[in-house]
Amino acid sequence: MKSAREKNVDPWLNPTEKPFIQFQSVSKEFGSVSAVRNVSLDIYKGEFFSLLGESGCGKTTMLRLLAGFEKPSSGHIYIDDIDVTKTEPYDLPVNIMFQFYALFPHMSVRDNVAFGLRQARLGRKFIKERVEEMLDLVNMSDFADRRPYQLSGGQRQRVALARALARQPKVLLLDEPLAALDKNLREKTQFELVNIQEKVETTFIMVTHDQEEAMTMSTRIGIMDKGKIKQVGTPGEVYEYPNSLFVAKFIGIVNIFDGIVTSEEQEYVVVKSPHIETDLAVAYSSAAPVGAHVSVVIRPEKILISTEIKNLPNNFAIGIVKDIAYLGDVSLYYVQLRSGKIVIATQPNLFRLAERPVTWDDKVVLYWQTENSIILTI
Ligand code: ATP
Repeated sequence: MKSAREKNVDPWLNPTEKPFIQFQSVSKEFGSVSAVRNVSLDIYKGEFFSLLGESGCGKTTMLRLLAGFEKPSSGHIYIDDIDVTKTEPYDLPVNIMFQFYALFPHMSVRDNVAFGLRQARLGRKFIKERVEEMLDLVNMSDFADRRPYQLSGGQRQRVALARALARQPKVLLLDEPLAALDKNLREKTQFELVNIQEKVETTFIMVTHDQEEAMTMSTRIGIMDKGKIKQVGTPGEVYEYPNSLFVAKFIGIVNIFDGIVTSEEQEYVVVKSPHIETDLAVAYSSAAPVGAHVSVVIRPEKILISTEIKNLPNNFAIGIVKDIAYLGDVSLYYVQLRSGKIVIATQPNLFRLAERPVTWDDKVVLYWQTENSIILTI
């Protein structure tokens, strides 16, 4: 999994560390719509925290509550011990960067960055120095005299970031900050944004529906569904150890075998599924007793694929390659088992396309290690 982070920031593991931002049992209703439902969430200083979820799940409402633009229907929100609900938005140590940047078209890059500092009536010398520092930070010093329309999308994004950071907010809220950029530029900008965040050490909170973006950039991710936070964790945790089928399916591709726990061995539990003839042996078990109905979840890259048919004691299946999706660095193999179930296995493309050893209609064996699947019950 790709990550743009160099530093390891993990204050949430330190029990003596005080959260910088706290949502305490926060709900927000708009008439009959419950946009946010009883959310409690701690975010720590210096984090790049992402709220990730599908359209309408409540993530923008969370951001607006934090910025003080909306008041919660119930619950409390604190930023650095300031009660957000009792403070006017302009008195909060928060700035927000919107999706389409909202740069002033008639102002130069320099004046755009200086705007908030001038509004705050800060000294001329200070403003000049701060603007230079910010333009340097986002690598836009050479473009200071241009107008926004004379810039590329990525450059506009960097000016908006410089403007948002100029007044040194303690918290920067980013609403889909890369949505206006095309795919290649978006990937490059993800790394730039993380580098800048690591330099300024401001707490960033980003709203996105793009899981790859959240995985690449965040210290931790809060996955939302219907106004609730389903799981909070590092990108690695939510990917490797999803706490529910919802999260497992939301982040990346998964293979799911529904079945029943038939025995508990010392190192693994055994699950029988109607979709696969061999036993599923699962090392990581979340308290599922014998007889429990469970789902065994396996990521495609954990499955090995081979044309050499061999029999293994468990965790293997024989099938036919029905489809191959070539993605450049990896290929996805869609393999149909005898039960009809399609299992997806990812393999790195170490061979050139014409030399690939597994191809359409091949009879193959799929197999994986006991520790590479997990059991979920919800
Ligand atoms: P998107 O990714 O589409 O922006 P979201 O996850 O950010 O979605 P929210 O904008 O937080 O979702 O909206 C959550 C729910 O609250 C939606 O059902 C939305 O229609 C509703 N909602 C948000 N703001 C208002 C409002 N001012 N009045 C009424 N309903 C609202």
